Amino acid sequence: MRHFISLDQLTVEDMYGILESAEDFRLGHTPIQQQIFAGNLFFEPSTRTKMSFVVAQKKLGMETLDFHSNSSSVLKGESLYDTARTFEAIGANLLVVRHESDTWYEEINANINIPIINGGAGKAEHPTQCMLDLLTIYQEFGKIEGLNVAIAGDILHSRVAKSNAHALKRLGANVFFCAAPDFQDHTLEFPYITIDEATEMCDVVMLLRIQHERHDGVKVMNHYLEEYGLTKEREANMKPNAIIMHPAPINRGVEIDTDLVECERSRIFKQMENGVYVRMAIMTKLLHDWGIIHEDAVKKRDTISFKRISG
Ligand code: ASP
Repeated sequence: MRHFISLDQLTVEDMYGILESAEDFRLGHTPIQQQIFAGNLFFEPSTRTKMSFVVAQKKLGMETLDFHSNSSSVLKGESLYDTARTFEAIGANLLVVRHESDTWYEEINANINIPIINGGAGKAEHPTQCMLDLLTIYQEFGKIEGLNVAIAGDILHSRVAKSNAHALKRLGANVFFCAAPDFQDHTLEFPYITIDEATEMCDVVMLLRIQHERHDGVKVMNHYLEEYGLTKEREANMKPNAIIMHPAPINRGVEIDTDLVECERSRIFKQMENGVYVRMAIMTKLLHDWGIIHEDAVKKRDTISFKRISG
């Protein structure tokens, strides 16, 4: 794997390999015995993705190059490509990039000679979020194939919805969307159901924040929780083992009742924890694939085997 930009570039086997490696990291590891510099180029706000990359890097023994776009030469007009090229020139061994453009990687991925990981591309893709969501679902059900998964919220402006819908479908889940008319994306071929149907029939209800920063004007959504969100009444109708997920940040009382954020079914903070392990797995895979570290640079247990198809 050259860069980790889109899950479409990965085979199903690659995806399971990363999930197994992440689960392995959850159970323990040793740091890389080699100096590795990681550059985290976040041009959009981030709490979870950035901080879990930093924790993952530090657990692996890497040196983290701190970058703040609002105090960098970006303010003097430097492009993303020149910024990335600069990091490469000064010795970064890998880059994590988040940018508001849906296609920022087209500007840089062919000419940068260190691995690049997509930490979020506009409203198009968020592949590391998707991997941590897949890990959370697998840990819960011991499979992905055959599960009913509803993705509910601002589908049109969400990169999480797109990455997850496509990957879950490839792994055999039945994916449904729930959204207010203004938030539907009919370029994507997934069936729309109501939030009531979703809560009654799905094993996973994945909620999304309204992505106000990507809307042209401010959309005032009165009664959003009652009409489209996860209320306590709807939660009470969920299947006994069904779980609630959300990539966060959460707008409590908008897409989800505040009391449900940490309820028994909620895996929201588990998702965040899993973010560290999948990012460790992705970074070490890229460093191995580029020959920057040796196959045995990180000692792991290597006994994990995930079931590909349900039986
Ligand atoms: N943290 C996620 C993202 O970066 C979801 C969100 O912002 O609502 O896309």
